[in-house]
Amino acid sequence: MEKHSKAEPLHILFFPFFAPGHMIPMVDLAKLFSSHGVKSTILTTHANAPLIQPTIDHFNSNSTHHHLLPIALLLVPFPSAEVGLSPGVENSVSITTPEMRTKMLQAISLFRQPFDQILREQLIDAVITDNLFVWSSDAAAEFCVPRLVFSGSGVFNHCVGDSLLRYDPMSALQTEDETVVIPGLPHKIEMLRTQMPDPKKRPEFWKFALDMREAAEKSFGDVVNSFYDLESHYVEHYRNFIGRRAWLVGPLSLYNRDVADNSRRGNRVSIDWDECLNWLDSKQPGSVLYVCFGTISHISNIQLREIAIGLDASGKDFIWVVRDTEGGLDWLPEGLEEKRGLIIRGWAPQILILNHSAVGAFLTHCGWNSCTEGVSAGVPLITWPLFADQFYNEKVVVEIEKVGVSIGAKEFGFFPDTKSLIMADVIEKAVERVMGEGEEAAGVRKRARELGEKAKRAVEEGGSSRADLKQLIEELSARRNAKSK
Ligand code: UDP
Repeated sequence: MEKHSKAEPLHILFFPFFAPGHMIPMVDLAKLFSSHGVKSTILTTHANAPLIQPTIDHFNSNSTHHHLLPIALLLVPFPSAEVGLSPGVENSVSITTPEMRTKMLQAISLFRQPFDQILREQLIDAVITDNLFVWSSDAAAEFCVPRLVFSGSGVFNHCVGDSLLRYDPMSALQTEDETVVIPGLPHKIEMLRTQMPDPKKRPEFWKFALDMREAAEKSFGDVVNSFYDLESHYVEHYRNFIGRRAWLVGPLSLYNRDVADNSRRGNRVSIDWDECLNWLDSKQPGSVLYVCFGTISHISNIQLREIAIGLDASGKDFIWVVRDTEGGLDWLPEGLEEKRGLIIRGWAPQILILNHSAVGAFLTHCGWNSCTEGVSAGVPLITWPLFADQFYNEKVVVEIEKVGVSIGAKEFGFFPDTKSLIMADVIEKAVERVMGEGEEAAGVRKRARELGEKAKRAVEEGGSSRADLKQLIEELSARRNAKSK
């Protein structure tokens, strides 16, 4: 492989895991680096390309970006036959059974060979790879290229993960209904055992978590979709106690400024934005609840019906995103949509909706992207975590920043069969607690507004995220230039 000359731009290879919650922020990240003079190449598979290509095309054709360098997309085949997934099933959104999920995770290890091939053939100065691509630390090391880890979550989640692996507090628990205090964190963080994956029941996930940590420790550091003021105690803990380097460059959603950016982000929007805008424009400021459970979660029909009854009882207008895969709308009480709702069946322009002045709160499953997007819009959250890092993200929103209220979800699980129902009256009360007239609601709204302002300042010139980004680019450039001497 030839050496770079100093005059050439830094070249970073981005490799996100195949799920919208991982791909969307990684594409935002590539856009961010490109607009700061970095040559960015995104690696993905053929079936995932259509989810990214329109965003890249729009970005590349937009001459108003300063220092714009076009983003390149590089495609490799998905190992469908090797893992036994049907052709075209290349993204977590298509995963409907635990068996498919296992196969998807198996596929992760099979990208090492094509990844190595790219590092062999192209002049790459750094790779930013998903946390789940554990092997990429070794691959990068072999080619003397720094690997930066991107997990899609915030720093708090990394700190909790470190504590669980370091102290294993769950091993001392005897019964299912106990609570766990996560050891060694800056705040007292107490979780129900049922809100966390149990290492005894899922030893393979525990092992994978250990592998991810080991790979992360070997890497150059983490690039995080967060900002200092959102998780300041945990950034200090991560850097000073755990000893990991982290550059917080978010909220990444804030780099999508116009309607065109946001109606392509992650997928093709299933509603005409003008129609949505007209509907929102006809509502009072702060009067609409936005409801969305992300891109891969599953909610039972009986639970969806309970939500519908709760929303009706709350008396608030709502926009509710219902995924295509959830089948028909049999669970929806007749007349409710006409009375006070706009149901988006498929993909919503989430950022545009959240930033409309009519939206007063966001009922969210607490995916980290959704949390940071709600926070950036200055909108209070009603938190309803389901699985993954969502119960930890809820802690950031509700207990640390106090910009939301919890619906009271108690069971961690990808599929709905293990979960108890959250009843309509609970949902109604939660809406009142953030959108109502009471003191609690006013406080939550005020803090959410203020945090939204801090989020915006973080990505502006002089802000903490802008500074972290520049520092990282400078460090990677200096490293590259030292190598090419
Ligand atoms: N999203 C969207 N429209 C939708 C559903 C989701 O734009 O109808 C975006 C949302 O803005 C966020 C991402 O998809 O950027 C979902 O990521 P998150 O981490 O919130 O949840 P996940 O889907 O990974 O559980």
